[in-house]
Amino acid sequence: LLEMRHIRKSFDGVEVLKDISLTVKEGEVLGIIGPSGSGKSTLLRCATKLETYDAGEVTYGGSVGLVFQNFNLFPHFSVLKNIMDAPIRVQKRNRAEVKQEAEELLEKMGLKDKANAYPCQLSGGQQQRVSIARALAMKPDILFFDEPTSALDPELTGEILKVIRQLAQEKMTMVIVTHEMDFAKHVSDHIIFMEEGYIALEGSPEEVFESSNARIQEFLGRFS
Ligand code: ATP
Ligand code: MG
Repeated sequence: LLEMRHIRKSFDGVEVLKDISLTVKEGEVLGIIGPSGSGKSTLLRCATKLETYDAGEVTYGGSVGLVFQNFNLFPHFSVLKNIMDAPIRVQKRNRAEVKQEAEELLEKMGLKDKANAYPCQLSGGQQQRVSIARALAMKPDILFFDEPTSALDPELTGEILKVIRQLAQEKMTMVIVTHEMDFAKHVSDHIIFMEEGYIALEGSPEEVFESSNARIQEFLGRFS
């Protein structure tokens, strides 16, 4: 569903992505882990074409959805309008149909009673669930998450991870950058460990987390 081949990206002469190749198949969850500054967000931004790249090729079939660390909701729109805006305005879909789907998504996210609230009236966890609903309203074929829980208090992190786990069970194709190692291990079909712009290690969760590779062990050691 997604293929990146030999992607390179530099900022001001410094190469931050060095020959990145990866594929994500339909229904698969790819977890991306690695230290700060290793290029994870840049990789997502190139994959979703929010950022241009200097060399290589990105191909995907279908449309993409993105969920950011800081929710990025429109503050002056109600929850319902945040979800309905792009399907109506960008995808030119029927308002009544979009509204019904938005209400169903809110129910799925446990936010049925918040349809008319404004983002500032919601907790961080609730705002993030709205932004997941907003991404899903576009019916993406693949959903990208960039550290969806890192702006949240620990007690709110669980509710977001639960929603993402549910999407994985429904076979949503996803690429997830996260610092939640336990979550990455359990939700991912495949894991990439990034370091200094390279894919330093990749494989199944078992292969990566139980690897004797000194660098991944040093990295994982920071979380225990
Ligand atoms: P974190 O875990 O802290 O989010 P990351 O792995 O997502 O880190 P990136 O944000 O992809 O890392 O950054 C990789 C490198 O690219 C860093 O050295 C960063 O300073 C640099 N970089 C990212 N975006 C830009 C930009 N727009 N202009 C210049 N340099 C950038
Ligand atoms: Mg980042």
